[in-house]
Amino acid sequence: MSVNDSLSRNRYVPAQKSHITLADNLSEEQFALLEKICPAGLFQRNAEGQAVINYRGCLECGCCRMIAGHSIITQWRYPASGKGIVLRFG
Ligand code: SF4
Repeated sequence: MSVNDSLSRNRYVPAQKSHITLADNLSEEQFALLEKICPAGLFQRNAEGQAVINYRGCLECGCCRMIAGHSIITQWRYPASGKGIVLRFG
């Protein structure tokens, strides 16, 4: 089974607001780091060139928080109770 096949088995209950906040004006180097870190590929540039995160697909693995640090990820919390990913095992 591929990684994409595994990810597609997860179910998400999206919150209204992102549980992850990015620092303003990330450098290309900082953004490239986020792109490499996230196993779900959630960090993107919007039409205006701003770094954004598609938080609704977050795996809640915490890799971006642990590796990028507070200067890039200014806030990381678990989504509110009952929201976020519903992992399926097996
Ligand atoms: S917690 Fe994991 S899945 Fe969620 S944005 Fe960070 S690296 Fe990506």
